[in-house]
Amino acid sequence: MNGPRLGDPRHLDNGIWWFGYRHARDIPDRLFLEAVAAAGGTGEFTCAMRSDVTRLFALPRDRDKPSHEIPGVPWKVVLAKFRRVKGRGLVDGCDCGCRGDWYLTDKGWAVLAGEGDS
Ligand SMILES: [Zn+2]
Repeated sequence: MNGPRLGDPRHLDNGIWWFGYRHARDIPDRLFLEAVAAAGGTGEFTCAMRSDVTRLFALPRDRDKPSHEIPGVPWKVVLAKFRRVKGRGLVDGCDCGCRGDWYLTDKGWAVLAGEGDS
């Protein structure tokens, strides 16, 4: 898989210096879906907490920080990204700023699996 990986310092080597995420559009769709899937864990029904998803975008050294204090990863940007992909039917859950309970829809899983990549 090409492109940046979650919290991977190799971001820095891809020709783009990692300044963090300032807008929802700065987070690639696939990376966001990966984060929701990873934070949700495995199981028959899984959902991810907003704070866990946010932490996954942190560089490894910042992962243990509270989710609203992660350098380069404003929680509002993560929430805005959620709203965008929810609007396209790739995820579902709550966007009010609570813990979220986010999960991938079948359409979202299909994008992660490489069918209908975006
Ligand atoms: Zn809510």
